[in-house]
Amino acid sequence: MGSDKDKSRSTTITPQSLSSGPTSGDGTATSNNPGDVAPSSNVNPGVLIVTLYEAKDLTIPAAQRPSSSTGDAPAPGHSRQLSKIFRTYAVLEFDKTQVVVSANSGVIDAPVFAGETTQFKFDVSREAELSVGIYMRNPGPRNGNEDIFLGSCKVTPSFEKPKQSQPRGGEWQQFTSGGGSVKIGLEYSRKNEEMNLQMSDFELITVVGKGSFGKVMQVKKRDTQRIYALKTIRKQHIISRSEVSHTMAERTVLAQINNPFIVPLKFSFQSKEKLYLVLAFVNGGELFHHLQRESTFEVNRARFYTAELLCALECLHGFNVIYRDLKPENILLDYTGHIALCDFGLCKLNMKEDDKTNTFCGTPEYLAPELLLDQGYTKTVDWWTLGVLLYEMLTGLPPFYDENTNEMYKKILHDPLQLPNDMDPDAKSLLIGLLDRDPSKRLGANGAAEIKSHKFFKSIDWQKLLQKKIQPTFRPNVMDAMDTRNFDPEFTQEVPTDSLVEGAVISNSVQGLFEGWSYNRPAQLNSEAPGSIRDTSRLK
Ligand code: ATP
Ligand code: MG
Repeated sequence: MGSDKDKSRSTTITPQSLSSGPTSGDGTATSNNPGDVAPSSNVNPGVLIVTLYEAKDLTIPAAQRPSSSTGDAPAPGHSRQLSKIFRTYAVLEFDKTQVVVSANSGVIDAPVFAGETTQFKFDVSREAELSVGIYMRNPGPRNGNEDIFLGSCKVTPSFEKPKQSQPRGGEWQQFTSGGGSVKIGLEYSRKNEEMNLQMSDFELITVVGKGSFGKVMQVKKRDTQRIYALKTIRKQHIISRSEVSHTMAERTVLAQINNPFIVPLKFSFQSKEKLYLVLAFVNGGELFHHLQRESTFEVNRARFYTAELLCALECLHGFNVIYRDLKPENILLDYTGHIALCDFGLCKLNMKEDDKTNTFCGTPEYLAPELLLDQGYTKTVDWWTLGVLLYEMLTGLPPFYDENTNEMYKKILHDPLQLPNDMDPDAKSLLIGLLDRDPSKRLGANGAAEIKSHKFFKSIDWQKLLQKKIQPTFRPNVMDAMDTRNFDPEFTQEVPTDSLVEGAVISNSVQGLFEGWSYNRPAQLNSEAPGSIRDTSRLK
């Protein structure tokens, strides 16, 4: 079934892209915009300086040990050892910003990194843990999932004092997954002045995506040298399409949420013509890209992605947010193969348990029946889309797919759900539950917990999953944070520019709608919400 798949990228329907269609008022520009709720002034973000020294007592799989390392053979064995050390690398991750560091000396089970000669600066806009993972690259052609995981741990830097340092030379941290330990140094310094970011603070590198309102570019922040995704949105576009409140909602949702499977917002700023979101750059590519390449995913891989997405959606629902636009194009894989949900442009805020909304939006293949019927809908639309996604990952196409959109809508409303005979029985049972046309009977109608306890997920340890302690079986083929090979060449071949906007000047009163957009979160304002990093650390 998957082999004949030729589904192109799906376009999101925003409320105003319909000539007629129900609206509930949440797509209109109002002065009561949700962007005003978050603090945007008098904040002191900072920089975390991480020094990576060495690792020790790593457990190296027998096949990766140099054959002579157990004997006395000195020189040839040594050079083989060294060539293997060069394949050992560490991934440092802070708030989903990842840095890859290769070992440069040492021995096979105790590699040494550049230490004080190379320090890595991470922009701190909120509290987060630093995670350190050690891997070994496999030689030969890589098809993506061959690198060997050796060990990882998480460290919580202290953001309490204005300047906090560890002893010179770093401290050993025991790995909690894999064997061994790593020596790292941490130093946090808070910026005293408020940061007013502007485009000149960033070097534009590559275009990685284009959306309905602007584009997404890979950029380098000049002071810390960290790589980010910069999403630019033209104010005029969103004003003319009455999308101001949705866009402000995207910024608000991203600013509040601290979940391991949701792409974090680092900063936001604006010019007279444009709004800018600075997001962690997630470079493993869209799930869409991987699914296109491989047609289908085997059930364990699909289960893993569904489970991580379930946690992301549960977290959003905990904030009374409906996501509404789940689809493979909005799901990114990070360097290590974990999920990062992006694109909060369609989020609906302030939706309590049974609150209903009517706005017709989403992506055709993923629209829930109650949305098509204009009956009003609740958070449970997200569980329908999770079912559609799981179905697409397992079979290669969404369940009611048709090239003709109107036909597809009819099928979504009336066709029986066809489940291939060879599909995993637990997956079938979950899909029947999630793709129930009656939202009140749909699995998840009583909360995410009832989906989590479905037998399809019996092998998932949810606490471990939320702490990212379950290693993905597939690791995207990327060399480092700069690598954009998993993005569409249609975009990456384009010259990155922050284009000039021509046209009418936006009046001061209209500019007022964007008040509250600019954002640098102070480190101490960590989210205490469910699924936040601080929250998960309590589970340990
Ligand atoms: P909207 O619905 O707000 O118009 P959009 O679809 O235009 O959104 P996004 O989905 O946010 O915009 O981004 C477009 C594409 O850019 C994504 O599908 C993804 O490929 C890429 N992208 C977005 N955010 C990131 C990120 N943080 N890291 C890497 N790539 C990203
Ligand atoms: Mg999108």
